[in-house]
Amino acid sequence: MRDIALVGIGKIATDQHVPALAASEDWRLVATVSRSGTVEGVEAFTDFDAFLEGRPEVGTVSLCLPPVPRYAYAEAALRAGRHVMLEKPPGATLAEVQALARLADEAGLTLYATWHSRMAPGVAPARDWLADKRIERVAIDWREDVRRWHPGQEWVFEPGGMGVFDPGINALSILTAILPFDIHVQQATLEVPENRQTPIGAEIALSGNVRAVFDWRHEGEQTWRIEVDTDAGRLTLSEGGHRLTIDGAEQGPAAGGAPIPGEYPALYARMAELVGAGASDVDLAPMIHVADAMTLGRRETARPFEF
Ligand code: NAP
Repeated sequence: MRDIALVGIGKIATDQHVPALAASEDWRLVATVSRSGTVEGVEAFTDFDAFLEGRPEVGTVSLCLPPVPRYAYAEAALRAGRHVMLEKPPGATLAEVQALARLADEAGLTLYATWHSRMAPGVAPARDWLADKRIERVAIDWREDVRRWHPGQEWVFEPGGMGVFDPGINALSILTAILPFDIHVQQATLEVPENRQTPIGAEIALSGNVRAVFDWRHEGEQTWRIEVDTDAGRLTLSEGGHRLTIDGAEQGPAAGGAPIPGEYPALYARMAELVGAGASDVDLAPMIHVADAMTLGRRETARPFEF
């Protein structure tokens, strides 16, 4: 077992990272760093430098902060000789993640830019099935309620918070894992509430006849679906990649329930593998599409939004 510290004890750390680490055979959670959050029974630091100085033997840190503050922590950790695991999206900008990848490489450390949705059980079988098909059309429908999944998290609407692309990038992480060819953004529309900095709704057209709709104002049944029409029928990944059907026929057990279980244990198993192999895994493809949509997107003003 290897020692690990968890940094930024907020929603995702509490919901997913802590239980995944508690069940892991690879990792022992020995410290947390957070200004306010703690984990029962685990040594708690409120300052990252104090942790780095005080616990030099903890070889790995997992950063669960929002993307904007995360870079400074990742850089400090790598400079202090620690392996680093990044929540998605891996940073606030592409260049800062590239800089981290270079730092890790030069220091012989592991940097893992995680994409939790890629670990959903339907994703690998979908990729395998699509590998030899002719893909005619792809439709992404990603609609959820921001108040439910990001209660009171003002940072999602601040610059660098990505707005609706914070969940939308999960769809793009799946898409870029299952398609057998590269794609690029051709057109985008971004709906930005008049009192906010980031979109609450977006539509993107990509090459390869790919269309994506992202909406954060959806209060009914939450929808995380990708449909791929091929010369051999329609593949549908729903429930965020946990359910796979081909022409309506269930492939493997239908998951049901909340989408995320299983994803974070798989991320930590992969991190253990990477550290063991002395390797890194930094795939920026999903974030490139978001950055391109933000660059190319036509802005429309939407109604003001308050949590
Ligand atoms: P969060 O609860 O708002 O923030 C996580 C923690 O980061 C906070 O509790 C806070 O801890 C620390 N933090 C926030 N702003 C900071 C700052 N400026 N400087 C230093 N620390 C700061 O966010 P979250 O929902 O867990 O999301 C964190 C990351 O996980 C995001 O990149 C998100 O995309 C990803 N994620 C979230 C979900 C979800 O359902 N929410 C799902 C999957 C992935 P302290 O104040 O105690 O220091």
